[in-house]
Amino acid sequence: MVDVIVIGGGAVGCATARNLSRFRLKTVLLEKASDICEGQSKANTAIVHGGYDAKPGTQKAKYNVLGNRMFQKVCSELDVPLKWNTSLVVTFSEDGIEKLEQLREQGRQNGVPKLSIIGRDELFRREPNLSREACAALLVETGGIVCPYEFTIANAENAAENGVRFCRNAEVRKVSRDETGLWTVESTAGTFTARAVVNCAGLYSDRINNMVSEEKFHILPRRGEYYIIDKRYADTFHASIFQLPTKMGKGILVTPTVDGTILIGPTAEDIDNRDDTRTTPAGLAKSLKFGSRTWEHIPLRDVITTFSGIRAHCDKNDFILGEAPDAPLFFNAGGVESPGLTSSPAIGEFLAGLVADRLHAEPNPDFQPVRHAIPKFREMDAAQREKAIASNPDYAKVVCRCETVTEAEIREAIRRPVGARTIDGIKRRTRAGMGRCQAGFCTPRTVQILSEELHISPLEVTKFGGNSKLLQSYLFTKGEDDHAQR
Ligand SMILES: Cc1cc2nc3c(=O)[nH]c(=O)nc-3n(C[C@H](O)[C@H](O)[C@H](O)COP(=O)(O)OP(=O)(O)OC[C@H]3O[C@@H](n4cnc5c(N)ncnc54)[C@H](O)[C@@H]3O)c2cc1C
Repeated sequence: MVDVIVIGGGAVGCATARNLSRFRLKTVLLEKASDICEGQSKANTAIVHGGYDAKPGTQKAKYNVLGNRMFQKVCSELDVPLKWNTSLVVTFSEDGIEKLEQLREQGRQNGVPKLSIIGRDELFRREPNLSREACAALLVETGGIVCPYEFTIANAENAAENGVRFCRNAEVRKVSRDETGLWTVESTAGTFTARAVVNCAGLYSDRINNMVSEEKFHILPRRGEYYIIDKRYADTFHASIFQLPTKMGKGILVTPTVDGTILIGPTAEDIDNRDDTRTTPAGLAKSLKFGSRTWEHIPLRDVITTFSGIRAHCDKNDFILGEAPDAPLFFNAGGVESPGLTSSPAIGEFLAGLVADRLHAEPNPDFQPVRHAIPKFREMDAAQREKAIASNPDYAKVVCRCETVTEAEIREAIRRPVGARTIDGIKRRTRAGMGRCQAGFCTPRTVQILSEELHISPLEVTKFGGNSKLLQSYLFTKGEDDHAQR
C-alpha cells in the first residue's frame, strides 16, 4: 500500500509528484504511455503566459499568475532553460486598440504586472520583422518561453530522486473506494492501494473523475496544428507574438522557442477523438494564413516539421482543481488546458499541500530541490568540451549532427531516474532527432545505444512504445546471435 497515487505523468502530474515528495509520503505515479510527457505537455506552444487572457475570478487566471511567478525559481532549481522574452498581442487595425485596452485591464484585475500598450514605433523597434500592417500591441513583460518536455521531465527526475516511484505503461482502468476508505486503482501494470488519489490524467481526467464522483465534467478535445521553422531564423522575432484572442483561444501566434526554432500555430478545432494528433492540410493552411499576418514571408522551405497538440478543454470552461466533494481523498487536476503549463508549478504545490494536509503528513527533511540537467555539448565552449571529453570519451562522438548531441548525453538520458526507453524519449531529453533532418541520420545509432543500454535486441527498440518498432529484421548480420534474431 502507498499513501498517494498520482494518475498521469504530464507537467501537472510530475509537478504534483515533485511537490508531494516534499512530505513524508509514499507516492507512486502511474502513466499509461511508455514515457512521461506524452500528452498535452509534449505538444504545445511552450509559453509561460503572463496571465492577461483568462477571465478574472477563474482558476485559470489565479493559477496562471501564481505559476508565472514561480517559474524562475523552479527552473533555477531544476536547471531548465527559461527565457523572459516578453509577449506581444498585436492588432492590425486601429479598431483593435480598444480590445488591447480591455485585455490590459483584464490582466490588471488578474494581478499581472508590467502591462502596457505600445504604438508602431516602439513595436517595430522591438520587432523589425513584424508585418508592417501591425498598428499597436499589448506588451506583456512577464511573458516567457520554456522547453515543455525538459520542464516536465526535470520535475519527474527530481520527484524520483526524492523517492517517488514512476510506473510507465500503467494505464488506469478502474478506481474505487472500499468501506475502510482506501482507494484501489487497477492498472495495466497491476493493482495499487492508496490512501489518496490525484487525478492528473489530462485529456482523460474526466473519465477518471467520473468513475468515482457524481460531480461530473466532460473533456471536449480541441486540436491545434503547428509549423516549426528551422533555427537559422532564430533571431527573426524576440517576443512571442499573439494576435487578438477569439472565443476559441489565444489565436495563431508566431513565437521563438528556447531551442532557437520558431513555432507558427496553433489552430483550434473541436474533434471527437482525443488521440487524433494528425496534422491536416486544412489546419496547416489556416496556421499559415493567420501566421502570415504576423510574419509576411514565412520561409516554407525552412519548415522542419509540423505537429499537433490536443487541448483538454473542459465543458465547465475552467480548471477543476481540488478534492471531489463526494469522494474523500480523491483530488482532481481536471481540464487543465492552456495556460496549464504555466500554471503547473502552482497547481502541483496546491494539490500536494492539500493532500499532505488531509493525510496529516510531515515535511520530508531530506527533500532535495536541486536537479542538474544533462550537460549539453552544443552549449560548451572549447575548453569545456575538452574537459568533458577527457572525463568521458563518449562526448567526442556526435550522434545527432543537426543538434550536436553526443553519445554521452544519450547514454545519460537512458541511465537517469525515469530514463528514456524509446527513440522519442531520447529526443525529448537530448534533442537528438529534433533538428533539420528530423532524425534521418541519428536514428540507427540511437537504436543501437538504446539496445546496448537496455540489453534488448535492436528489433525491440520502439519509437514511442507499444508496436512502434523501427526494425523488422537485420539486413546484414555479424554472427550467429544476430542471425538468430532475424
Ligand atoms: C495546442 C496546445 C497549446 C498549448 N500552449 C500552451 C502554452 O503556450 N502555455 C501554457 O501554459 N499551456 C499551454 N497549453 C496547455 C498545456 O500544454 C497543458 O495545460 C498541460 O500540458 C497539461 O498538463 P497535464 O499534466 O494536465 O496533462 P497531460 O500533459 O496531457 O498529461 C496527462 C497524462 O495522463 C496520462 N493518462 C491519461 N489517461 C491515463 C490513464 N487512464 N492512466 C494513466 N495515465 C493516463 C496521459 O498519457 C498523459 O501523459 C497548450 C496545450 C495545447 C494542446
